[in-house]
Amino acid sequence: MNIDAVRDALSHLDLEKSKAAIRAKSRDFFWYSPVLKDRLDGVEADLVVSPRSEAEVIEVLKACYAHDVPVTTRGAGTGNYGQAMPLAGGCVMHLQHMNAVREVHPGRVIVEPGCLLKDLDAECKAQSGQEIRMFSSTWATATIGGFIAGGSGGVGSVHWGNLRDLGNIIRLRVVTMEAEPRILEFRGEELARVSHAYGTNGIITEIEIPLAPAYDWVELFVTLDDFPSASRFALDLARESGILSKLVSVYEAPTAHSYFPRIQPHVTPGSQLIGLMIAPHSMDGFETFLARRGDAKVIWNSQVGGWDRQPGTVFEYGWNHTTLRALRVDPSITYLQVRYGEADPVEQVERIRARLSPEVLQHLEVLRDAGRPIFAGLSLVKFTTEDRLNEIVEIHESEGAMIFNPHRYTLEEGGRQRVDDRQLAFKREADPKGLLNPGKMISWDQPAWSYDRMYAFDRLRRVAAE
Ligand code: FAD
Repeated sequence: MNIDAVRDALSHLDLEKSKAAIRAKSRDFFWYSPVLKDRLDGVEADLVVSPRSEAEVIEVLKACYAHDVPVTTRGAGTGNYGQAMPLAGGCVMHLQHMNAVREVHPGRVIVEPGCLLKDLDAECKAQSGQEIRMFSSTWATATIGGFIAGGSGGVGSVHWGNLRDLGNIIRLRVVTMEAEPRILEFRGEELARVSHAYGTNGIITEIEIPLAPAYDWVELFVTLDDFPSASRFALDLARESGILSKLVSVYEAPTAHSYFPRIQPHVTPGSQLIGLMIAPHSMDGFETFLARRGDAKVIWNSQVGGWDRQPGTVFEYGWNHTTLRALRVDPSITYLQVRYGEADPVEQVERIRARLSPEVLQHLEVLRDAGRPIFAGLSLVKFTTEDRLNEIVEIHESEGAMIFNPHRYTLEEGGRQRVDDRQLAFKREADPKGLLNPGKMISWDQPAWSYDRMYAFDRLRRVAAE
C-alpha cells in the first residue's frame, strides 16, 4: 500500500492533519468489551479524509484502489464491536460533511449518510411533523449511515421491529470500490447486501427511509417488586396493540439503585425498573392497563415532573446506554447482546436468571419480531475472565437464547455465526481487492473458518501510543 501517493492525490480534500485526531478517529466504542479492548487498542489509520460529496467519495475510493490502501468508513464512531476501526491501517473516510437532509415527503425522507439522527429527526419534525421510526439510543451523536451499516434497531423497535425488517429501509445508494467506482441503487431484497455490512462491500451515499407521525412522547419510569412481574408487565404492555409505545425497557434490581444515580433516591436496591415512552394519546389506555396491575408504581412521568434532579431522557437509560451507565460506576461491567425468542420469553429469561443472576443482571428491551413482542437482552455482565465470559455465552445458548457476541469484531461472530452469502457475493463484485474495512468479514478472508474459536485477523496493525 502506498499511503504517500494517496495523501498526495487527495491533498485538495479535507485531510486530517493532527496525529491525535487521526488516532481518535480510528477508535469507536470497542472498549465496552474487555476482550476487544485488549485486542484492538492501538489500531490506527494512516490518514483520515472527510469528503464533502459523493464525487469526493469516488475520488477517495479511486485513489485508494489505485494504491492498494484499505478504506474504513466512519459515521460518528459510536459503534461497538470495533466496527469502525481500521484493523489494517490505511484510510478512514469520515462522512461528517455529507449531512444534508435532501427531501422530506409524507411517509419518507431522503438523506445523506453523515446526518446525525437527532438532526434528521429535528428536520423531519420541523418540515412535516414527522419523525424517524426508530433510532439508536446514541441519537444525539450517531449518524444515520452508521446506524444502517452498523446498527440493528433501538428506540422505536418495540413497535416497528428491527432495521432489517422489510419496509424499514426504502432505498440505499451505494458506491463500489473498483478502478472505476460504480453507483448502484438498492431496494427490496438487494438492501440486505449492504445494510449491516459494516461498510465492507460498498459505501452508502444516500438513504431513503420511512417516517412516522411525530409525537411529544410521554416518558415514564415504573417500579415493581419482583423481576418476572416486571418483565411480564413489559411484554403484556407491548402486546396491547392499541397502546402506542416507542420504548419498553426492563432493568433487573439493583441496576436502578446501583447504576442510575438520578433514579437512586426514588428506588430501593430491590426495585425492578421499567422505562417507557408512550404516545400522549395512548396515556388513557396506559393508565387503564396500569390500574389493572395492582403491583406497578409510576415513579416518574415527564408530563408531571416533580423530582429535584430530573432524570434526563428515558431512552438514554435504555439499549446500550444501560451498559454505559453501569460502566461509569463499575468499570468491571461489560455486556452481552441476547435474543430471547421463545413463545414465552419471560420463562426463558427466568431460566437464565436462575443460573446467572447476579453475575449477569438482566436488561431487556421489548422488540417486535415478526409481529410479536420478544425480548432483546443487553445484559450487564460482571467481567472476571475471558473463559468465564465464554462459559456465560454457552449457558445462554444452552437455554436456547441467541448471542450476538459484542466481544468479537467480525460480522459473522457478532451476528448469527454464519456466512451471509448475499454480502459475500456483493463484496466479490464491488470490492475485488478486499480493501473495504478489512478483517471484518471472515468468509472473505478464511472461507473454511469453523467458528469454534475467536477469529484473529492476521494483518491487524497496532501502533504504540506516543
Ligand atoms: P460508526 O460507528 O461510525 O459506524 C458503524 C459501522 O458502519 C462501521 O462499520 C462503519 O464502517 C460503517 N459505516 C458508517 N457509515 C457508513 C456508510 N455511509 N457506508 C458504509 N458503511 C458505513 N446500536 C443500535 O443499533 N441500537 C442502539 O440502541 C444502540 N445504542 C448504543 C448506545 C451506546 C451508548 C453505544 C456506545 C452504542 C450504541 N449502539 C446502538 C451502537 C451505535 O451507536 C449505533 O449502531 C450507531 O447508529 C452507529 O452510528 P455511527 O455514526 O456512530 O456509526
